Amino acid sequence: MNEATPDAARGLQAPLQYLKGVGPQRAKLLSRLGLETIEDALFFVPSRHEDRSRLTPFRELAEGIAQSCAGTVARINAPPRGNPRVPLSVTFRDGTGYLTAVWFNQPYLADKFEKASERKQTVFLFGRTARFRNGPLQMQHPDYEVVEEDEDETLHTGRLVPIYRLTEGLPQRWLRSLLWRVLDEHAPRVAESLPEALRRRRRLSALSDAVRAIHFPQTEEEFATARRRLVFDDFFLFELGLAIRRQREGRQRGIAMAPAGELGQRLRQGLAFRLTAAQERVWEEIRRDLAAPHPMSRLLQGDVGSGKTVVAALAVLTAVEAGYQAAVMAPTEILAEQHLLTLRQWLPPLGVPVELLTSAIKGRERYVLLEGVKSGDIPCLVGTHALIQEGVEFRRLGLVVVDEQHRFGVAQRARLREKGDNPHVLVMTATPIPRTLALTLYGDLDVSVINEMPPGRQPVVTVARPEGQRAQIYAFLRQQTTEGRQVYVVCPLVEESEAMDLKAATEMADRLQDEVFTDLKVGLLHGRLSFAEKEAVMRAFKEGQIHVLVSTTVIEVGIDVPNASVMLVEHAERFGLSQLHQLRGRVGRGPWKSYCILLESGGLSDEARRRLEAMTQTNDGFRIAEVDLELRGPGDFFGIRQSGLPEFRVADLLRDGRVLEEARQDAFALVAADPDLQRPEHRALRQALLARWRGKLDLASVG
Ligand code: ADP
Ligand code: MG
Repeated sequence: MNEATPDAARGLQAPLQYLKGVGPQRAKLLSRLGLETIEDALFFVPSRHEDRSRLTPFRELAEGIAQSCAGTVARINAPPRGNPRVPLSVTFRDGTGYLTAVWFNQPYLADKFEKASERKQTVFLFGRTARFRNGPLQMQHPDYEVVEEDEDETLHTGRLVPIYRLTEGLPQRWLRSLLWRVLDEHAPRVAESLPEALRRRRRLSALSDAVRAIHFPQTEEEFATARRRLVFDDFFLFELGLAIRRQREGRQRGIAMAPAGELGQRLRQGLAFRLTAAQERVWEEIRRDLAAPHPMSRLLQGDVGSGKTVVAALAVLTAVEAGYQAAVMAPTEILAEQHLLTLRQWLPPLGVPVELLTSAIKGRERYVLLEGVKSGDIPCLVGTHALIQEGVEFRRLGLVVVDEQHRFGVAQRARLREKGDNPHVLVMTATPIPRTLALTLYGDLDVSVINEMPPGRQPVVTVARPEGQRAQIYAFLRQQTTEGRQVYVVCPLVEESEAMDLKAATEMADRLQDEVFTDLKVGLLHGRLSFAEKEAVMRAFKEGQIHVLVSTTVIEVGIDVPNASVMLVEHAERFGLSQLHQLRGRVGRGPWKSYCILLESGGLSDEARRRLEAMTQTNDGFRIAEVDLELRGPGDFFGIRQSGLPEFRVADLLRDGRVLEEARQDAFALVAADPDLQRPEHRALRQALLARWRGKLDLASVG
């Protein structure tokens, strides 16, 4: 194994600028790619490799697939000056035939190929071929690279050649040569961070080997092996941080709550339904956590309508019966109000008052409320972020329930804990999260999943329809109301403004009332209404006095009217995928066949098209979440970027789930055996961990 000295490590921090052939100009370009130091360069993973040992002869190019090939320039057709509609077209020749490549809006490329033509240089092309109007095969906007005669052939041709992400002014070949030199000199000095035993057990290559082979592999297998090692590192260091954090919390003293469970029993007796087996199972998991003398950190996952609220209510009652207060926190006022309504149905009859606190509650009312919380007279407080603001003091906060947690950061969770004496935390999410993402975002939480719907639920029939079918859709809505059902019509965010939102919804409601459903009652719900007004509208809808409820997106979460059978979404293309799935979850709650109609207006982007397709193809929330993750990428999905977690160099949450599981197992086992990474064989690992998490992990006792 390579023994890295601190000197060598410092060497890797040396700036690239002073390497031969770099200089201040190119250094600036490199830093645009995030490359400042030798180490940055070593870990600058190619975006792909091109197999230039196996080029496809022009004559054998197949239609429609991406292929590598190479030839010399035979003819250049430059577009007439100033006409962007005509592309630059260059025809290449190899021993077998000709291939034409076209580039739009890049007339300056003509000079480049002119030069290559004069010097008879080889041009490598990589791209997808297509045929236009029965003409010969063409490539549009292929990647290209001109290889100089005098250049090191073994680097740029005849092998698996790395292709890097570039920035304007930085040539591919130059960067590749630079990285080759950097690797040659410095890769052997990369210190091994993983314990020998772990590496052997998981058959992971040495880090220095992996770094070299991720750039310049001899074979595909060598590349795969290198990649696996680096992916493992990404996940392992990440999970190690979570495991340490977790270990600390677990060691903390918490409140053991093990009351007789009388309140919970009485709640169950009053319910119109019995808990599903899945609800019983997760409740048992939560009950056990609450009874233990350590703070619970548990994520309760379940698709829309799977019945998380009643489980949360059982937890609240357990805390109350044990003599503690419970806080239930939601990301929006409307959702907080929904929880209030639900909990008010269930808890006050058992002698447990529930109050609401939002930032809209002010003055005397707020003062009285805060006093009640402080004195302990209010056992259950529901609210928004306002709950964790300054000035809210609990007497004995024992449980915090956080709904729709992905909008709460890790830091907010920590702040919640400080509000009490290490209260138990139950995080609920109605947005199903792919397992890989759950392990990263919530890797320091235990996870319970309600994987079963209450009986009698039917999958919602989902269709996408163009604007032109509006009349037929209205006829269908009418038919549904004739059968006694009710209908939602949701209007999208028009601009980033609530006022515009409101206008669109108001106009829609007026039009439906005055022109379409003149004999029915059309209601309107939006975020500008007061709590009392919203409650009145929702009650009227629930009681069947409103047949068609027009709404802004405020109904996305929480509303529960089993008699509603149609969800019509206006401008469905403007909604995010998980939002659409949430909206769909508002129907299909009763015994009737239910429908979600996605009305699309105007030209759809590819992404919008895929969102609507996903909706019409599946009702499965987990599948929806996976597509959402694919479309948006993990950085954006739930805002990992802002979450204060380290980013991955190589690992891809979509592809590398298996490795993540392995890394997680190993990380948690390692921390269980050596909680502060004090053993000598873990010294290098501790260093790597601190470097990776920088200040993001409070590892004072580890450092
Ligand atoms: P979510 O998990 O989306 O928060 P809710 O807790 O709002 O779901 O539950 C959705 C609806 O299902 C509510 O009307 C709730 O009362 C009802 N419900 C919950 N559990 C059951 C059950 N076991 N059987 C029948 N209905 C149930
Ligand atoms: Mg809910």
